[in-house]
Amino acid sequence: MPIRSTSPNSVRRPSVWPGVILYYWDLLPVKNRESIVTLHEGNTPLLRCSNLERVINPDIRLYVKLEGLNPTCSFKDRGMTVAISKAVEEGSRAVLCASTGNTAASAAAYAARAGLKAYVLIPQGSISLGKLSQAMIHGARVIEVEGNFDTALRLVKEATRHFPITLVNSLNPYRLEGQKTAAFEVSDHLGEAPNYHFLPVGNAGNITAYWKGYKQYLEIGRLTSLPKMMGFQAAGAAPIVLGKVVEQPETVASAIRIGNPASWQGALAARDESNGVIDTVTDEEIIAAYKLLANTEGALAEPASAVSVAGVIKKQRERLFRKGDTVVCTLTGHGLKDPDVAIRHSAQSMRISPNLDSLVAIFEREEKK
Ligand SMILES: *Cc1c(COP(=O)(O)O)cnc(C)c1O
Repeated sequence: MPIRSTSPNSVRRPSVWPGVILYYWDLLPVKNRESIVTLHEGNTPLLRCSNLERVINPDIRLYVKLEGLNPTCSFKDRGMTVAISKAVEEGSRAVLCASTGNTAASAAAYAARAGLKAYVLIPQGSISLGKLSQAMIHGARVIEVEGNFDTALRLVKEATRHFPITLVNSLNPYRLEGQKTAAFEVSDHLGEAPNYHFLPVGNAGNITAYWKGYKQYLEIGRLTSLPKMMGFQAAGAAPIVLGKVVEQPETVASAIRIGNPASWQGALAARDESNGVIDTVTDEEIIAAYKLLANTEGALAEPASAVSVAGVIKKQRERLFRKGDTVVCTLTGHGLKDPDVAIRHSAQSMRISPNLDSLVAIFEREEKK
Protein backbone atom coordinates (compact mmCIF):
# COMPACT_ATOMS: atom_id res chain seq x y z
CA MET A 1 0.00 0.00 0.00
CA PRO A 2 1.45 3.34 -0.87
CA ILE A 3 2.29 5.49 2.09
CA ARG A 4 -0.31 8.18 2.31
CA SER A 5 1.17 11.28 0.93
CA THR A 6 1.57 14.13 3.32
CA SER A 7 3.34 16.04 0.60
CA PRO A 8 2.17 19.59 0.50
CA ASN A 9 1.19 19.47 -3.19
CA SER A 10 -2.39 20.25 -2.36
CA VAL A 11 -1.42 22.72 0.34
CA ARG A 12 -0.42 26.16 -0.74
CA ARG A 13 3.06 26.82 0.53
CA PRO A 14 3.78 30.38 1.45
CA SER A 15 5.82 31.94 -1.32
CA VAL A 16 9.43 32.79 -0.58
CA TRP A 17 9.93 36.19 1.06
CA PRO A 18 11.73 38.25 -1.59
CA GLY A 19 13.41 40.85 0.66
CA VAL A 20 12.18 44.35 1.41
CA ILE A 21 12.81 45.94 -1.99
CA LEU A 22 10.57 43.61 -4.00
CA TYR A 23 7.98 43.29 -1.26
CA TYR A 24 7.58 47.06 -0.87
CA TRP A 25 8.59 47.91 -4.45
CA ASP A 26 6.15 50.78 -4.96
CA LEU A 27 7.31 52.55 -1.81
CA LEU A 28 11.07 52.38 -2.41
CA PRO A 29 13.42 54.23 -4.79
CA VAL A 30 15.10 51.35 -6.65
CA LYS A 31 14.31 51.60 -10.37
CA ASN A 32 15.63 48.42 -12.02
CA ARG A 33 15.05 44.93 -10.78
CA GLU A 34 18.44 43.91 -12.19
CA SER A 35 20.24 46.14 -9.72
CA ILE A 36 18.64 44.63 -6.62
CA VAL A 37 21.15 43.28 -4.12
CA THR A 38 19.34 41.35 -1.42
CA LEU A 39 19.97 38.72 1.22
CA HIS A 40 16.19 38.45 1.71
CA GLU A 41 16.28 40.77 4.71
CA GLY A 42 13.12 41.86 6.52
CA ASN A 43 9.94 39.96 7.44
CA THR A 44 11.26 39.63 10.97
CA PRO A 45 9.02 38.27 13.75
CA LEU A 46 6.93 40.54 15.92
CA LEU A 47 6.94 38.58 19.15
CA ARG A 48 4.18 39.03 21.72
CA CYS A 49 5.82 39.14 25.17
CA SER A 50 3.18 37.84 27.57
CA ASN A 51 5.75 36.97 30.22
CA LEU A 52 7.18 40.48 30.18
CA GLU A 53 3.68 41.93 30.27
CA ARG A 54 3.06 40.08 33.53
CA VAL A 55 6.25 41.56 34.96
CA ILE A 56 5.88 45.09 33.62
CA ASN A 57 2.15 45.75 33.20
CA PRO A 58 -0.51 43.09 32.49
CA ASP A 59 -2.82 45.71 30.97
CA ILE A 60 -0.67 46.45 27.92
CA ARG A 61 0.05 44.39 24.83
CA LEU A 62 3.82 44.30 24.47
CA TYR A 63 5.62 43.18 21.31
CA VAL A 64 9.27 43.07 20.32
CA LYS A 65 10.42 43.17 16.71
CA LEU A 66 13.33 40.79 16.36
CA GLU A 67 15.58 42.69 14.00
CA GLY A 68 18.50 40.51 15.06
CA LEU A 69 17.00 37.86 12.75
CA ASN A 70 18.01 39.79 9.66
CA PRO A 71 20.78 38.22 7.51
CA THR A 72 23.69 39.97 9.26
CA CYS A 73 21.76 40.01 12.54
CA SER A 74 20.78 43.67 12.78
CA PHE A 75 18.23 46.06 11.26
CA LYS A 76 21.03 47.71 9.25
CA ASP A 77 20.33 45.18 6.46
CA ARG A 78 17.03 46.89 5.59
CA GLY A 79 18.83 50.09 4.74
CA MET A 80 21.87 48.41 3.27
CA THR A 81 19.93 46.46 0.63
CA VAL A 82 18.59 49.75 -0.75
CA ALA A 83 21.87 51.68 -0.40
CA ILE A 84 23.89 48.96 -2.12
CA SER A 85 21.28 48.38 -4.83
CA LYS A 86 21.30 52.11 -5.62
CA ALA A 87 25.11 52.12 -5.59
CA VAL A 88 24.99 49.35 -8.22
CA GLU A 89 22.33 51.23 -10.18
CA GLU A 90 24.48 54.34 -10.18
CA GLY A 91 27.60 52.48 -11.28
CA SER A 92 29.57 52.80 -8.05
CA ARG A 93 32.60 50.56 -7.55
CA ALA A 94 33.25 51.00 -3.84
CA VAL A 95 31.40 51.89 -0.65
CA LEU A 96 32.56 53.47 2.59
CA CYS A 97 31.13 53.80 6.09
CA ALA A 98 31.99 54.64 9.68
CA SER A 99 30.50 52.18 12.11
CA THR A 100 30.09 51.07 15.70
CA GLY A 101 29.99 47.58 14.15
CA ASN A 102 26.66 46.64 12.67
CA THR A 103 26.78 49.00 9.71
CA ALA A 104 30.24 47.61 8.92
CA ALA A 105 28.99 44.02 9.09
CA SER A 106 26.02 44.78 6.86
CA ALA A 107 27.94 46.91 4.34
CA ALA A 108 30.59 44.20 4.09
CA ALA A 109 28.05 41.45 3.40
CA TYR A 110 25.97 43.36 0.84
CA ALA A 111 29.09 44.71 -0.89
CA ALA A 112 30.42 41.15 -1.13
CA ARG A 113 27.19 40.02 -2.75
CA ALA A 114 27.27 42.98 -5.15
CA GLY A 115 30.94 42.58 -6.01
CA LEU A 116 31.78 46.03 -4.66
CA LYS A 117 34.75 46.97 -2.56
CA ALA A 118 33.87 48.00 1.02
CA TYR A 119 35.94 50.23 3.31
CA VAL A 120 34.78 50.37 6.92
CA LEU A 121 36.12 52.72 9.57
CA ILE A 122 35.65 51.61 13.15
CA PRO A 123 36.56 53.24 16.45
CA GLN A 124 39.73 51.63 17.71
CA GLY A 125 39.25 48.77 20.14
CA SER A 126 35.62 49.43 20.93
CA ILE A 127 33.53 47.29 18.61
CA SER A 128 32.27 43.85 19.54
CA LEU A 129 34.12 40.81 18.29
CA GLY A 130 31.07 39.40 16.53
CA LYS A 131 30.61 42.51 14.42
CA LEU A 132 34.31 42.86 13.65
CA SER A 133 34.52 39.23 12.58
CA GLN A 134 31.60 39.70 10.18
CA ALA A 135 33.18 42.71 8.48
CA MET A 136 36.47 40.84 8.15
CA ILE A 137 35.19 37.55 6.77
CA HIS A 138 33.00 39.31 4.19
CA GLY A 139 36.17 40.87 2.85
CA ALA A 140 35.79 44.50 3.84
CA ARG A 141 38.90 46.63 4.25
CA VAL A 142 38.67 47.24 7.99
CA ILE A 143 40.33 50.46 9.14
CA GLU A 144 40.62 51.21 12.85
CA VAL A 145 40.56 54.90 13.63
CA GLU A 146 42.31 56.27 16.68
CA GLY A 147 39.21 57.95 18.02
CA ASN A 148 35.52 57.33 18.56
CA PHE A 149 32.62 56.84 16.15
CA ASP A 150 32.03 60.56 15.73
CA THR A 151 35.66 61.06 14.64
CA ALA A 152 35.33 58.20 12.15
CA LEU A 153 32.11 59.61 10.72
CA ARG A 154 33.69 63.05 10.27
CA LEU A 155 36.55 61.39 8.40
CA VAL A 156 34.36 59.41 5.99
CA LYS A 157 32.26 62.47 5.20
CA GLU A 158 35.43 64.35 4.26
CA ALA A 159 36.73 61.42 2.23
CA THR A 160 33.63 61.23 0.04
CA ARG A 161 34.25 64.82 -1.00
CA HIS A 162 37.65 63.85 -2.39
CA PHE A 163 37.12 60.36 -3.78
CA PRO A 164 34.42 58.82 -5.97
CA ILE A 165 33.14 56.41 -3.37
CA THR A 166 29.59 55.85 -2.09
CA LEU A 167 28.90 56.68 1.54
CA VAL A 168 26.60 54.06 3.09
CA ASN A 169 26.11 55.60 6.51
CA SER A 170 22.56 56.70 7.27
CA LEU A 171 23.48 60.12 5.85
CA ASN A 172 22.83 58.25 2.61
CA PRO A 173 19.06 58.82 2.20
CA TYR A 174 18.56 55.38 0.66
CA ARG A 175 19.49 53.80 3.99
CA LEU A 176 16.53 55.47 5.69
CA GLU A 177 14.25 54.52 2.79
CA GLY A 178 15.06 50.87 3.39
CA GLN A 179 14.82 51.13 7.17
CA LYS A 180 11.32 52.59 7.04
CA THR A 181 10.09 49.15 5.89
CA ALA A 182 10.24 47.98 9.51
CA ALA A 183 7.39 50.40 10.29
CA PHE A 184 5.46 48.97 7.34
CA GLU A 185 5.93 45.46 8.69
CA VAL A 186 4.81 46.35 12.20
CA SER A 187 1.71 48.01 10.73
CA ASP A 188 0.99 45.08 8.41
CA HIS A 189 1.38 42.64 11.27
CA LEU A 190 -0.81 44.49 13.77
CA GLY A 191 -3.29 45.77 11.19
CA GLU A 192 -2.95 49.18 12.84
CA ALA A 193 -0.26 51.37 14.33
CA PRO A 194 0.82 50.64 17.90
CA ASN A 195 0.14 53.33 20.49
CA TYR A 196 3.84 53.55 21.33
CA HIS A 197 6.97 52.57 19.45
CA PHE A 198 10.13 52.33 21.58
CA LEU A 199 13.61 52.20 20.10
CA PRO A 200 17.22 52.97 20.92
CA VAL A 201 18.72 56.15 19.47
CA GLY A 202 22.36 56.32 18.43
CA ASN A 203 23.02 58.11 15.16
CA ALA A 204 19.22 58.60 15.11
CA GLY A 205 18.67 57.28 11.58
CA ASN A 206 16.34 54.52 12.66
CA ILE A 207 13.87 56.62 14.63
CA THR A 208 13.82 59.01 11.67
CA ALA A 209 13.17 56.14 9.27
CA TYR A 210 10.41 54.53 11.35
CA TRP A 211 8.59 57.84 11.62
CA LYS A 212 8.88 58.32 7.87
CA GLY A 213 7.47 54.82 7.32
CA TYR A 214 4.52 55.27 9.65
CA LYS A 215 3.66 58.64 8.10
CA GLN A 216 3.87 57.22 4.60
CA TYR A 217 1.55 54.34 5.53
CA LEU A 218 -0.94 56.86 6.90
CA GLU A 219 -0.72 58.89 3.68
CA ILE A 220 -1.50 55.92 1.46
CA GLY A 221 -4.38 54.84 3.66
CA ARG A 222 -2.90 51.74 5.24
CA LEU A 223 -3.06 53.31 8.71
CA THR A 224 -5.61 55.50 10.39
CA SER A 225 -3.41 56.65 13.26
CA LEU A 226 0.24 57.10 14.15
CA PRO A 227 2.25 55.88 17.14
CA LYS A 228 4.07 58.03 19.63
CA MET A 229 7.79 57.65 18.95
CA MET A 230 9.73 56.83 22.11
CA GLY A 231 13.48 57.15 21.56
CA PHE A 232 16.00 56.26 24.27
CA GLN A 233 19.67 57.12 24.57
CA ALA A 234 22.15 55.73 27.05
CA ALA A 235 22.70 58.16 29.91
CA GLY A 236 26.42 58.43 29.07
CA ALA A 237 25.74 59.11 25.38
CA ALA A 238 22.67 61.31 25.33
CA PRO A 239 23.40 64.37 23.19
CA ILE A 240 19.80 64.80 22.02
CA VAL A 241 18.42 64.71 25.57
CA LEU A 242 21.12 67.08 26.82
CA GLY A 243 20.78 69.34 23.80
CA LYS A 244 24.51 69.35 23.15
CA VAL A 245 27.26 67.25 21.60
CA VAL A 246 28.85 64.72 23.97
CA GLU A 247 32.60 64.66 23.33
CA GLN A 248 33.35 61.36 25.09
CA PRO A 249 30.23 59.20 24.91
CA GLU A 250 30.38 56.17 27.20
CA THR A 251 27.96 53.27 27.62
CA VAL A 252 27.89 49.48 27.71
CA ALA A 253 25.62 49.70 24.64
CA SER A 254 28.40 50.13 22.07
CA ALA A 255 26.02 50.41 19.09
CA ILE A 256 24.69 53.72 20.43
CA ARG A 257 27.94 55.10 21.83
CA ILE A 258 27.55 58.24 19.72
CA GLY A 259 27.97 61.85 20.83
CA ASN A 260 26.95 63.79 17.72
CA PRO A 261 24.17 61.99 15.83
CA ALA A 262 23.84 62.59 12.08
CA SER A 263 20.02 62.51 12.13
CA TRP A 264 19.64 64.73 15.19
CA GLN A 265 16.98 66.88 13.49
CA GLY A 266 15.10 63.83 12.24
CA ALA A 267 14.87 62.46 15.76
CA LEU A 268 13.57 65.76 17.13
CA ALA A 269 10.96 65.92 14.37
CA ALA A 270 9.84 62.34 15.08
CA ARG A 271 9.52 63.16 18.76
CA ASP A 272 7.67 66.44 18.31
CA GLU A 273 5.36 65.46 15.46
CA SER A 274 4.32 62.25 17.23
CA ASN A 275 4.02 63.72 20.73
CA GLY A 276 6.66 61.25 21.79
CA VAL A 277 9.74 61.58 23.94
CA ILE A 278 13.48 61.17 23.75
CA ASP A 279 14.79 60.16 27.13
CA THR A 280 17.67 58.30 28.76
CA VAL A 281 18.22 54.99 30.52
CA THR A 282 21.28 54.11 32.58
CA ASP A 283 23.67 51.25 31.84
CA GLU A 284 22.28 49.42 34.89
CA GLU A 285 18.76 49.71 33.48
CA ILE A 286 19.99 48.54 30.07
CA ILE A 287 21.64 45.41 31.47
CA ALA A 288 18.64 44.64 33.67
CA ALA A 289 16.33 44.81 30.64
CA TYR A 290 18.78 42.75 28.58
CA LYS A 291 18.75 39.96 31.17
CA LEU A 292 15.01 40.15 31.72
CA LEU A 293 14.32 39.72 28.01
CA ALA A 294 16.65 36.76 27.74
CA ASN A 295 15.37 35.13 30.94
CA THR A 296 11.65 35.62 30.52
CA GLU A 297 11.08 35.52 26.77
CA GLY A 298 14.04 33.64 25.31
CA ALA A 299 14.86 36.69 23.22
CA LEU A 300 18.56 37.53 23.05
CA ALA A 301 19.26 41.04 21.86
CA GLU A 302 22.40 43.10 22.17
CA PRO A 303 22.58 45.67 24.98
CA ALA A 304 21.81 48.59 22.66
CA SER A 305 18.58 46.84 21.67
CA ALA A 306 17.53 46.27 25.27
CA VAL A 307 17.47 50.05 25.62
CA SER A 308 13.96 49.98 24.12
CA VAL A 309 12.68 47.59 26.80
CA ALA A 310 14.49 49.56 29.51
CA GLY A 311 12.57 52.55 28.18
CA VAL A 312 9.24 50.75 28.57
CA ILE A 313 10.12 49.83 32.15
CA LYS A 314 11.05 53.43 32.92
CA LYS A 315 7.81 54.76 31.42
CA GLN A 316 5.80 52.17 33.34
CA ARG A 317 7.38 53.51 36.54
CA GLU A 318 6.11 56.93 35.46
CA ARG A 319 2.62 55.41 34.92
CA LEU A 320 2.49 56.37 31.25
CA PHE A 321 0.40 53.53 29.84
CA ARG A 322 -3.38 53.07 29.71
CA LYS A 323 -5.23 49.79 29.74
CA GLY A 324 -5.18 48.18 26.30
CA ASP A 325 -2.23 50.15 24.92
CA THR A 326 -0.18 48.38 22.26
CA VAL A 327 3.54 48.88 22.75
CA VAL A 328 6.22 47.80 20.28
CA CYS A 329 9.95 47.68 21.01
CA THR A 330 12.51 47.29 18.25
CA LEU A 331 15.23 44.84 19.23
CA THR A 332 17.77 46.24 16.80
CA GLY A 333 20.52 43.59 16.87
CA HIS A 334 21.24 40.04 17.96
CA GLY A 335 22.78 39.30 21.34
CA LEU A 336 25.32 36.90 19.88
CA LYS A 337 27.11 39.88 18.40
CA ASP A 338 28.54 40.34 21.86
CA PRO A 339 28.74 37.01 23.72
CA ASP A 340 31.20 38.48 26.26
CA VAL A 341 28.46 40.66 27.68
CA ALA A 342 26.12 37.66 28.00
CA ILE A 343 28.69 35.64 29.90
CA ARG A 344 29.70 38.54 32.13
CA HIS A 345 26.10 38.98 33.27
CA SER A 346 25.13 35.34 33.75
CA ALA A 347 25.48 32.76 36.51
CA GLN A 348 28.74 30.83 36.30
CA SER A 349 28.62 27.35 34.84
CA MET A 350 29.09 24.43 37.26
CA ARG A 351 31.73 21.73 37.01
CA ILE A 352 31.41 18.14 38.24
CA SER A 353 33.31 14.87 38.13
CA PRO A 354 31.69 12.48 35.68
CA ASN A 355 29.45 10.47 38.02
CA LEU A 356 25.75 10.38 38.74
CA ASP A 357 26.04 11.34 42.41
CA SER A 358 27.59 14.68 41.57
CA LEU A 359 24.88 15.40 39.03
CA VAL A 360 22.10 14.40 41.42
CA ALA A 361 23.62 16.62 44.09
CA ILE A 362 23.20 19.56 41.72
CA PHE A 363 19.58 18.70 40.99
CA GLU A 364 18.83 18.48 44.69
CA ARG A 365 20.47 21.79 45.41
CA GLU A 366 18.71 23.52 42.52
CA GLU A 367 15.28 22.09 43.36
CA LYS A 368 15.52 23.66 46.82
CA LYS A 369 16.00 27.12 45.35
C1 LIG B 1 22.81 51.10 14.59
C2 LIG B 1 22.23 50.53 15.81
C3 LIG B 1 21.45 51.28 16.70
C4 LIG B 1 21.24 52.74 16.56
O1 LIG B 1 20.49 53.10 15.42
P1 LIG B 1 20.58 54.59 14.89
O2 LIG B 1 19.87 54.56 13.59
O3 LIG B 1 22.04 54.88 14.73
O4 LIG B 1 19.95 55.47 15.90
C5 LIG B 1 20.88 50.63 17.77
N1 LIG B 1 21.09 49.32 17.99
C6 LIG B 1 21.83 48.57 17.16
C7 LIG B 1 22.01 47.15 17.47
C8 LIG B 1 22.43 49.15 16.05
O5 LIG B 1 23.18 48.39 15.25
